[in-house]
Amino acid sequence: MPSKLRLRQPDRAPNLRHGGKKSDTCPRCHFRRDKEDKGKGKLLHGIPEVTDSEQLRGVLVAIDRNLRQDQDLMKDKRAHFMMGVLEARISGREYFLIASSGRESGDPWIREKHLNGISYHQGAWETVDPPVPKIHRGWLTVRGETVDLDPKMAQTHVEMKCAAIKLLLGLGGKRLEWKSVEYLRMSEMVYVGPEADGVTFRKWHGKGATNSWTAHSCDACEARIPYLICDVPANRIVD
Ligand SMILES: [Zn+2]
Ligand SMILES: [Zn+2]
Repeated sequence: MPSKLRLRQPDRAPNLRHGGKKSDTCPRCHFRRDKEDKGKGKLLHGIPEVTDSEQLRGVLVAIDRNLRQDQDLMKDKRAHFMMGVLEARISGREYFLIASSGRESGDPWIREKHLNGISYHQGAWETVDPPVPKIHRGWLTVRGETVDLDPKMAQTHVEMKCAAIKLLLGLGGKRLEWKSVEYLRMSEMVYVGPEADGVTFRKWHGKGATNSWTAHSCDACEARIPYLICDVPANRIVD
């Protein structure tokens, strides 16, 4: 095979995006996510899109390694969940959050003891497990402003307690002083036990751009994330 052909890669970005891309129109404020804030030399949205990163994928590898040492989890061969990590620098301060989607009953799988051996910002990681609204109303943006999602979403598992959603709601719950967003990145990975059956998110495994195990967000997250990352102040939104 000619080397040119062999080297050709499928069309894919180096980092996955969660919740659409910056050229999309924001469902909350109805501005394009890459629209400029005129005269300010920056964009109206502090987070025009959310991508993952190599460092965050490395953090997930470390957590996954720790989880596989956890005898309780190893005994639960049907266990399956999504894990997520988020890093952000907002108004000059950094935040490092970890979340996992819930078990049917009880606490999320990832706990403090699974954070050993993370070399990227060692010791700075915080696990979050905020409540997730059961209906489309009463959600929280990353900036801590309340937002209602599209009522049509009521039929699409709006209440799913996904890792990505917990991370964004966890950040919003901090109600940070919101002067500027330097960056916000997020990576996700699935854990699927050897006997987990009917696991729909198995299909995301392997679609990662540069690492085969990086996971895409699920459809419900892809629909919810754009609302949660909008940080355009409520008083600038014209209906
Ligand atoms: Zn917006
Ligand atoms: Zn999801």
